[in-house]
Amino acid sequence: MVDRLANSEANSKRIAVVESCFGTAGQPLAIPGRVLIGEGVLTKLCRKKPKARQFFLFNDILVYGNIVIQKKKYNKQHIIPLESVTIDTVPDEGDLRNGWLIKTPTKSFAVYAATATEKSEWMNHIDKCVVDLLQKSGKAPTGEHAAVWVPDSEATVCMRCQKVKFTTVSRRHHCRKCGFVVCGPCSDKKYLLPSQSSKPVRVCEHCYVQLTSGGLAPRSDSISRPGLKFNSNNLSDDDEDDSSD
Ligand SMILES: [Zn+2]
Ligand SMILES: [Zn+2]
Repeated sequence: MVDRLANSEANSKRIAVVESCFGTAGQPLAIPGRVLIGEGVLTKLCRKKPKARQFFLFNDILVYGNIVIQKKKYNKQHIIPLESVTIDTVPDEGDLRNGWLIKTPTKSFAVYAATATEKSEWMNHIDKCVVDLLQKSGKAPTGEHAAVWVPDSEATVCMRCQKVKFTTVSRRHHCRKCGFVVCGPCSDKKYLLPSQSSKPVRVCEHCYVQLTSGGLAPRSDSISRPGLKFNSNNLSDDDEDDSSD
């Protein structure tokens, strides 16, 4: 992390550098009032395994991308509006240390810094940006957030039925409501979670019952897919979209 840039000319230059590192694949980042607070490499816990990602903290957005060439070229840019961000510390466990959760209504995930000092710097800066933004807009903090996905490697059997063992043909799925790794039969329902998608998304049986018993959503919001089969041709499954991330 670097300290907040007081000099606005230096700030504009640095934002231009970030833009150029993402090239044409990235969004324009320079807007009036935007300040680059800091940047650094964090380990992002992805579906398959932890991966290094370059993160940029601005006063209103958090940007991250894949590292093609360190400090020169990044791709797969993601932009998260800080207004909707909530953070939570994650206790150290094994090799995964100095982590915290970045939770938003559309997507939530864990990141890990190299040291405890870096972690607290990141968390303090993010927190301060979010507080400042909410104060300025007068909005309330975001209450609802997407589930943090349990990594595939954490589950050898379905976390709901505890029976189905995952193999190359019996594939893992993620419930969009609780984030558990579940088998096909335990997640053959879809439910509309508007903050995550305009289309109904995969939920596990347990969450489906909870969601539907609440009686808040119309029945048409969910569709059942009892015919789902386990086979290797089932690659059109929506879970695949997230596997590279
Ligand atoms: Zn199951
Ligand atoms: Zn669930």
